[in-house]
Amino acid sequence: MTIQQIMFDDLGSVRVAHSDIPLPAPQPGEVSVTPLYLGICGSDLHVLHGKHPWIKPPLVTGHEVVARVIDCADDVSGIAKGDLVALNPLVSCGQCRRCLQGQDNHCEQAKVIGFRLPGAGQTALNLNTRQLHRLPPQMDPRLASLVEPIAVGVHAAQRSDDLEEVLIIGGGTIGLCLLMALGARGAGRITILEPVASKRALALKLGAAAALPPDQLDGAARFTTVFDCVAAQSTLGLGSTATLGGGTLVVVGVPGSERYVNLPRLQRFEIDIHGSGMYIGADMERAIELIHNGSLDVSALITSIVDLKDAAEGYRLAAQPDSVKVLVRMQ
Ligand SMILES: [Zn+2]
Ligand SMILES: [Zn+2]
Repeated sequence: MTIQQIMFDDLGSVRVAHSDIPLPAPQPGEVSVTPLYLGICGSDLHVLHGKHPWIKPPLVTGHEVVARVIDCADDVSGIAKGDLVALNPLVSCGQCRRCLQGQDNHCEQAKVIGFRLPGAGQTALNLNTRQLHRLPPQMDPRLASLVEPIAVGVHAAQRSDDLEEVLIIGGGTIGLCLLMALGARGAGRITILEPVASKRALALKLGAAAALPPDQLDGAARFTTVFDCVAAQSTLGLGSTATLGGGTLVVVGVPGSERYVNLPRLQRFEIDIHGSGMYIGADMERAIELIHNGSLDVSALITSIVDLKDAAEGYRLAAQPDSVKVLVRMQ
């Protein structure tokens, strides 16, 4: 069996590589899988275009994956050949204080598949079952490929309980996944700031009460919680000013470097600043449940699906301003 891999060869260069080395038998604890769909993420594009702070090409990419199990090591239980699975790409050490408490996303030894570890953008690979969540067999694999970004939203939505009036800065995939997760959590009125008109329209369809271009937010408007899904200097400045006294600013976006916040205001008005980084297994399970029971209309997020041979075109499309989620069909 020839294995094909989506490689970032160099900055800006995507290639489908072929390998004739057969897939080894799964080691203890592992299963062999064939990915069905791969979602292209903003963080993948950061790596591809040299904007990621420490991960650089060349590498095999891919972390938003839904796959079919084709083989299991003898000691594997709970997952069987034929199962549909979603990948949790966060590989934690399993031994530190935070891992033992179930807070794998706080593990300082953790590495992420598709970044420090080889990606899952391959037509076949072996994975440890610790990284996999079984999906309901009848779940549409295209929708299941959104489990990972929805888990980001589910996790972020729990980083504040003060959700009476919410501002989300950034209406890309993560902002929209967060919007849906906040809706499922019973948040009050949600406003979203997003420069691209088609994404604002999508945000309104997905439950936002208002969707505005960034420069149209009233400077006096205040929100009990602000989620910054961009984490640029300008958005963190805006977010720390737009948070109501006693409220919470949640940083969901990945800052490319150090940033400054309105610290005098945070001190004087007792505004908390919380980070939100990835998710834990329970967030993945909740994401699966919300997608499978139809609570979240994730199909609205999929703007294109390309075949594996056209992967380079998929990454080009994903970088267009009006793209939300681009999927690569892996088989
Ligand atoms: Zn992602
Ligand atoms: Zn750990």
